[in-house]
Amino acid sequence: MSNFSVRPEIEDFAPYVPGMTIEQIQDMYGLSTVIKLASNENPLGTSPVVRKAIARNAARAFRYPENHSPRLAAAIARSVGVPEECILVGNGSDEIIDMLFRMKAVPGRDNVVCYGNSFAMYHMCAKLCGLEYREVPRGEDCALPLEAMAEAADGHTAMVIVTSPDNPTGLAATVDDLSLLSGTLPEDCLLVLDEAYIDFAWPPEAYTPVQAFDSFGNVVALRTFSKAYGLGGLRLGYGILPADLAARMKNARIPFTVNILAEAAGLAALEDEVFYNETLALVMRGREYFSKELPKLGCRVWPSQSNFVMFESPRDTAEVFEELLKRGIIIRPLKSFGLPRCMRVNVGTDKENETFIRALGEVLNG
Ligand SMILES: *Cc1c(COP(=O)(O)O)cnc(C)c1O
Repeated sequence: MSNFSVRPEIEDFAPYVPGMTIEQIQDMYGLSTVIKLASNENPLGTSPVVRKAIARNAARAFRYPENHSPRLAAAIARSVGVPEECILVGNGSDEIIDMLFRMKAVPGRDNVVCYGNSFAMYHMCAKLCGLEYREVPRGEDCALPLEAMAEAADGHTAMVIVTSPDNPTGLAATVDDLSLLSGTLPEDCLLVLDEAYIDFAWPPEAYTPVQAFDSFGNVVALRTFSKAYGLGGLRLGYGILPADLAARMKNARIPFTVNILAEAAGLAALEDEVFYNETLALVMRGREYFSKELPKLGCRVWPSQSNFVMFESPRDTAEVFEELLKRGIIIRPLKSFGLPRCMRVNVGTDKENETFIRALGEVLNG
């Protein structure tokens, strides 16, 4: 053991705990096939069009990428319908979250406002950056506490962060709610919308204010290729920001964080409407199926605008999780989100969804 010191913020850092991998479960239980419905990945896998694009670009891997991925930023801007200067491409939307915390908030002075039981990244980044993390409790049945968030913000609030559709509940704030919140925030405070799951919200215009981006001066939206586009392993996401903020963040960022294959894959994914539309159809069918079948097994289900559903079962969560693992199915218990009675299951293929419901039926009703 060495005795090197680290910044006090790092001393008692709890690591991010990801869901278990298929290989880990196979080894632990001696299973040949495992169904993973734990990390909200795309049930259709990697699109064949994207695979070809990656293969075509393999020989370019010795080249540095173009800084800030301008070709991809332009393609994203066209697809979203905002000016190119508003797009900041990153190594997953996690990189954009990290950049916002480091570049917007002043350590030791500022605070960020989030709600309870949310994505671990926000708390990690706040701690790392020496910022006060103001956690507003959720409303009844885990409702998003938008009014209370507005009240918690003050002159030193750098950002108010809302995940919508929310992880892990699947609940979504409406454009009207968000517009109200945006209008009540202090000057110089950003409303950061983590829209990792916005592709699955229906109809989209009821849930994302990005269509009216110009009229929301303080909004930043974060999006990702990890979910609907099936590129979680390549690490690609982006932010939609006021142009001046995006420009200043580009100046201060680490160069070349988006690699050449991720850029090629992102460009191909945006063109591949067939895969995207198939994904949406599958997800919407699957979440409807879960919402119908889980209550029949005595579970309580939250309404979802996402590619997963949150539910509570009549039996102990840890036992249900373990019993499902033995049957080769990985879902996500939500203890690490502070919701020990709840579980999250993402939509798989139709067959995987049926297998999960059958297995859960066995576990709950013997
Ligand atoms: C999956 C997810 C992201 C996306 O992360 P990437 O870094 O783009 O893979 C962001 N926010 C939330 C809440 C998520 O669940």
